[in-house]
Amino acid sequence: MKYLDEFRDENLAAPLLQELHRTFSKPFRVMEVCGTHTMSIFRNGLRSLLPKGLKLISGPGCPVCVTSAAHIDAILAIAEQTNMRIALFGDLLRVPGSTGLSLANGSAKGAKVDVVYSPMDALEIARSHPDEMIVFPGVGFETTTPGIAATILAADNCGIDNFTVFSTHKVMPPPLLALLDDPDLKIDALLCPGHVSTIIGASAYVPLAETYKLACVVGGFESADILQAMIMLAKQINRGESKVENAYTRAVRWEGNRRAQQMTAAIFEPVDMEWRGLGYIPQSGLGIRSKYKHYDAVTRLGINLIPAAEPKGCLCGEILKGKKEPPACPLYGKRCTPGTPVGPCMVSSEGTCAAFYTYGG
Ligand code: SF4
Repeated sequence: MKYLDEFRDENLAAPLLQELHRTFSKPFRVMEVCGTHTMSIFRNGLRSLLPKGLKLISGPGCPVCVTSAAHIDAILAIAEQTNMRIALFGDLLRVPGSTGLSLANGSAKGAKVDVVYSPMDALEIARSHPDEMIVFPGVGFETTTPGIAATILAADNCGIDNFTVFSTHKVMPPPLLALLDDPDLKIDALLCPGHVSTIIGASAYVPLAETYKLACVVGGFESADILQAMIMLAKQINRGESKVENAYTRAVRWEGNRRAQQMTAAIFEPVDMEWRGLGYIPQSGLGIRSKYKHYDAVTRLGINLIPAAEPKGCLCGEILKGKKEPPACPLYGKRCTPGTPVGPCMVSSEGTCAAFYTYGG
């Protein structure tokens, strides 16, 4: 596939790996922010190939993993009501709430749950089920939000009444600010998320680089992309620089995608949001503007979030903060496996625990 396969080519990756070893001269700790990066790094065995002293720390960029237990509980409570139908992305289906139950269990007990590939599919379900309220849990970062904004606009234009979005949308720079304020984490560099950056642009990380004196590089997701980004980070560290560079120029522009930004801003506004493991972070989420409240599940269904704890024994919160690695969890590989997940980091295809378990630490 053009723009993918050539960046997976070992004939391209091997010289980049050698260059990284030649360039690396000072130890540094880099957080790979995005769950897709985490999975790619594990799948390609990159951890074991990197220079000793280049430490990778997985960050809070798996959208399913950072959805709080309170939000999952609220989705489960909606699913139990009559005349409600949940249309959602498949990753959410098996995420347990605070009681350990998930929508997969609820579905087995008769709750109406449809897995969709796009929010527009959920709108089609609303058209074909006029006697039910279709609730779409909006989970994701800036990459996902423009499509959901477009769907709300389409629902409004078509006068579809039985469609709502339960927005738990999150935006990326604020949780990084919250994490970087923690002196224990000691991060020197960020591998900035490629997908999110296509929307917000590489320039979004300039305040982080300047405030926290971080080397920042936006990277793509194939082996060659990640190695190229690591070389650029190592060069910055060697020179004592802290600036933002873009190693993913085939997808990311400095200013991002203005049209997608405008689409999101027309429908959503910044709100405080609860993150799993990180708690409430000011202005780190997106709520639906009052002009479109007819499509806001919180308003239409009167959703009240009830504070909820992590599943007992689960360390997802610490893992999402980069403070622990999965083998530190007493449930890892015993009670908690991809087949019997206890926490979202083992459920999600981008979760750090799933990556460790599937590909080895
Ligand atoms: S191994 Fe399972 S229980 Fe432990 S932190 Fe990961 S997801 Fe949570």
